[in-house]
Amino acid sequence: TTEPLAQLILKPQAQQFYRQRKKYDHKGTFGHALIIAGSYGKMGAAILSSKAAFRIGAGLVTCFVPECGYQIVQTAIPEAMTLTDKEDDLITNIEFDIEVAAIGVGMGIGTKKETVAALQKLFSEAKAPMVIDADALNCISENESLLKVLPKQSVLTPHPGELKRLIGDWKNDFDKIEKTKKFSEKYEVVVLIKGANTMTIFGDMVYINSTGNPGMATAGSGDVLSGVITGLLSQGYDPLLASVFGVYLHGSAGNIVSQQISFEAVMASDIADTLGDAYIELF
Ligand code: AMP
Ligand code: MG
Repeated sequence: TTEPLAQLILKPQAQQFYRQRKKYDHKGTFGHALIIAGSYGKMGAAILSSKAAFRIGAGLVTCFVPECGYQIVQTAIPEAMTLTDKEDDLITNIEFDIEVAAIGVGMGIGTKKETVAALQKLFSEAKAPMVIDADALNCISENESLLKVLPKQSVLTPHPGELKRLIGDWKNDFDKIEKTKKFSEKYEVVVLIKGANTMTIFGDMVYINSTGNPGMATAGSGDVLSGVITGLLSQGYDPLLASVFGVYLHGSAGNIVSQQISFEAVMASDIADTLGDAYIELF
């Protein structure tokens, strides 16, 4: 007999992923998540992602943004700490002297060469497990040098457009999965194929998600997902588990909130604010 190469993730599987908190746990137990995101006009990406990291249970969240985002983040999320780049509207130099348990990077950061240089340094030096999303993925697609320093065991969360830039075009869905598997094996990273029934690919394994709905096809919902996975990493879930469980909970939150307010009305911040209901719904 051969091992199954794909697994459907339904509630019973998700229940097994969940790790219960203990009475004497403290915020240090759940880790410090660092969200590196935002640029002029796109600070919302940083806020949505940081909020999701908190809602999924990170103990502490620090949000690293360009200088012009300082007041925005501090006002929008009082629970978060904020670090800023020396540049006003771009991320150009990611410096932090805090110990972090997980990093989520790329949401709304753009692809300017100064930002690429900052990513080069981050990828080469960072020790914490990392979620790489959005413009950080676009930077990788445009700069071979970033691929060379891609931290192993990272979680890459492309939507179809970002995936195409990363692995090239595909002939059909099977080809897409095969190309993604090859990329995952080559760089030893977890890769999501986001969309309806998001797939999580690690080596030759494929996990197919069962939650989610077209109400989630709205600006910022991917930023919420990257915060979710970063927040799970910070709590000590390993990269594969954080991805598969995070995708499930994110979709479940989307299902719960769209039943309350319709597919049409769902905004990404609603998904972030419903993550708690997704935990409650698990059992
Ligand atoms: P992004 O394009 O980066 O904002 O990510 C979009 C997020 O919404 C991903 O997590 C997708 O899986 C999810 N999403 C978008 N469209 C759908 C859909 N039709 N059904 C389920 N989930 C979706
Ligand atoms: Mg996105």
